[in-house]
Amino acid sequence: MRRGRGATVVCVALLVQKFGGTSVADPDRMRTVAEHVARCRKRGDDVALVVSAMGKETDDLLHMASKITSEPDGREMDMLITAGERKAISLMCMALHQQGVEAHSYTGSQAGFLTDANHQNAKILEINPYRIKESLAQGIVPVIAGAQGVSTEKNVTFLGRGGSDTTAVALAHALDADLCELFTDVSGVFSADPRIVPRAGKMETITFDELLEMTATGCPKPAMRSVEVAHNHRVPLHVRSAFTWEPGTLVVERYENEEESAMEQPIIRAVTSDVSESKLTVVGVPDQPGVSGTLFRSLADAGVNVDMIVQNVAADGTTDISFTLPTEDLVKAQETLNNGVLSAISGTLVAPESSVGKVSVVGAGMKSNPGVAATMFETLADNNINIDMISTSAIRISCVIDADKVDEAVQHVHTAFGLDR
Ligand code: ASP
Ligand code: MG
Repeated sequence: MRRGRGATVVCVALLVQKFGGTSVADPDRMRTVAEHVARCRKRGDDVALVVSAMGKETDDLLHMASKITSEPDGREMDMLITAGERKAISLMCMALHQQGVEAHSYTGSQAGFLTDANHQNAKILEINPYRIKESLAQGIVPVIAGAQGVSTEKNVTFLGRGGSDTTAVALAHALDADLCELFTDVSGVFSADPRIVPRAGKMETITFDELLEMTATGCPKPAMRSVEVAHNHRVPLHVRSAFTWEPGTLVVERYENEEESAMEQPIIRAVTSDVSESKLTVVGVPDQPGVSGTLFRSLADAGVNVDMIVQNVAADGTTDISFTLPTEDLVKAQETLNNGVLSAISGTLVAPESSVGKVSVVGAGMKSNPGVAATMFETLADNNINIDMISTSAIRISCVIDADKVDEAVQHVHTAFGLDR
């Protein structure tokens, strides 16, 4: 945004800045964030803040509810969880006032977030941020509670874990902001989880496509849903640290000067891993049309999010189908299959592998460079790691391996693709 300020023309921007739980964990952190916002305001930028619940507050609230009931009512649960963000926004405003910055707090509902009625995992239907716009127009910093809204049934809703990222991106889109900055406790997006690979490097830029594949295969931040929303609406994203305040990782549509950078960019950008999945195998199903349809329709209807699927070559007219799914959905999936589905497809369920590991490499460069899969498989083989399942997209290769070997696999693959710093 370019606006005239007196005789000189200065470049000021409308920024949506989201601060995660650790960034606002205590009064000192709140003060530090408020000082940062005060500096942005002095520079002339307009800022809308989105804030998460302080520290581990969301976990604490969930834990408290679990002490009362194992089957909480969805409506009451969302009223409870969203209290965490509500507490944070009011304290944040007080911290801003101390810095001489005018600020008003807004719940998700006040900020105009209309959602569906799917408690604990509500989807945003539309945003009518007229109060936020009014606040900005008056020079008052709006501080919005993350991860919440009001449903079509007029109940308070929670957007789910990590939902504050989605709030920030969606708001940035609704306000037509210049940039959405996700401030967190890591300094950007890394070529691997630095806790697993100390020599992982921070990326200056990453494309939406690559970041989406990374978040889908185990990169915990930013929340996958927020990356999807940002990608769909072309919201420029900046993932950065609220501790060092150094520039983080810019998420872009495509690399500038792609031709040139293709030569400089590593073919593989990142190695990700996930140990939150399980594997189920159905054996002895007839090799005929409709079997997979029946099997996976029943799982879909039960809300089970299947990941990788492998079907064997048929022998004797029957075949086996293996698939991975989130471990938290395992019991639900087994119940669904045992409840008539297996008999309908005359299959047998073998004992689940309740914790499998997955290691993935992501990079748009693999589209035009042969040998990426071979290098990955050889690296695993050289380190005596057996591959159980393989799946690929145009810019990703994933291998299911023993969960115990995942960290080791990530380290070796990271080195093999020259990503160590
Ligand atoms: N406080 C919520 C959580 O911990 C929402 C968020 O931080 O995005 O998941
Ligand atoms: Mg959080």
